[in-house]
Amino acid sequence: MKKGRAFFISSLFLPVRLSPLKMTTAMLENAHPLWEQFRQELQSVSSLGQWTQLRDRYLSRQRGLITLEVKKLGRLSAEERPSAGQRLNVLKVQVEKALENHYQLLKEQERFRQLQSERIDVTLPGYYPRRGRIHPLRRIQREMEEIFMRMGFQVALGPELEWDYYNFEALNMPPGHPARDTQDTLYITENLLLRTHTSPVQIRTMQQQPPPVRIVVPGKVFRRDAVDATHSPMFHQMEGLVVDAGITFADLKGTLEAFLKELFSPQTRVRFQPSYFPFVEPGAEVVISCIFCSGTGCRVCKQNGWIEVMGAGMVHPKVLQKVGYDPETYTGFAWGMGIDRIAMLKYQIDDLRIFFENDVRFLSQF
Ligand SMILES: [Zn+2]
Repeated sequence: MKKGRAFFISSLFLPVRLSPLKMTTAMLENAHPLWEQFRQELQSVSSLGQWTQLRDRYLSRQRGLITLEVKKLGRLSAEERPSAGQRLNVLKVQVEKALENHYQLLKEQERFRQLQSERIDVTLPGYYPRRGRIHPLRRIQREMEEIFMRMGFQVALGPELEWDYYNFEALNMPPGHPARDTQDTLYITENLLLRTHTSPVQIRTMQQQPPPVRIVVPGKVFRRDAVDATHSPMFHQMEGLVVDAGITFADLKGTLEAFLKELFSPQTRVRFQPSYFPFVEPGAEVVISCIFCSGTGCRVCKQNGWIEVMGAGMVHPKVLQKVGYDPETYTGFAWGMGIDRIAMLKYQIDDLRIFFENDVRFLSQF
């Protein structure tokens, strides 16, 4: 019984327990020579490009090394063929499996490298986007508009290319009037010009509506001037116009004084000096106490303590007549000032050209 059992055990179990070893040894002994070659080549594959090359080198349907081996099978004898065929099959499966594993490994490495390169260092200082700024001229223009709008004015705009009629004739400057010569006009044709002031918009507005009128007109104006620290062929004006029944010079003084005190400072003193403009009667030059020396005298005010800031006056009856307003019922006042000049005073700039050079170092200060 004992012997029989021992036989039973050995015959039943030993072969089973030994089989993995036997198989491995068999495989090693039986391994195709290409397997070892492939394994060595696979070890040096470090990129997906190399991986593809290696795969094609062994498995390409036309000239893969394994494919060529399969083609050789036909030359073997009928006895050799089955075992050689099986060996090649095992090789092919092994190669495919090894390639698949290596492919996953390379993908993993690539992903790791990508994550490394895209890693965010939160300790690095950030990039601050540069903030755009409003040009100092536009900024002061808006400030001036807002002061007048709070006083009940509306902003009106008009064309920069203007008819001679609106720029001169309707403003009491008929052809041949001496005041035309002082404006150094840039003519496009005989009757068409680049407006020399924003005053034509007064006429255009009054033609379109009955009184009362309360407008300010900011905009570009043009004159045949050589460029220097205080002159430019293109500059900016702000014009104002009030027309209604019973408007007097006191309204002019009160409005402009309130505006100038708000724009510069409550301590600003305002003076009106007689002056002449063809489209007003009487006309005045408006001067303010120097904002730099408070009137004691400095370089900016040329030591006299006062600075001229605008021209103004009561609208000439002939101008009202031209637009069909009855000058017996309606009166009004108007003024004009250089926005560039106000900006130079307000920001203490002594060269007009700097506004038009668009140097970021200058512009970014506003
Ligand atoms: Zn001064």
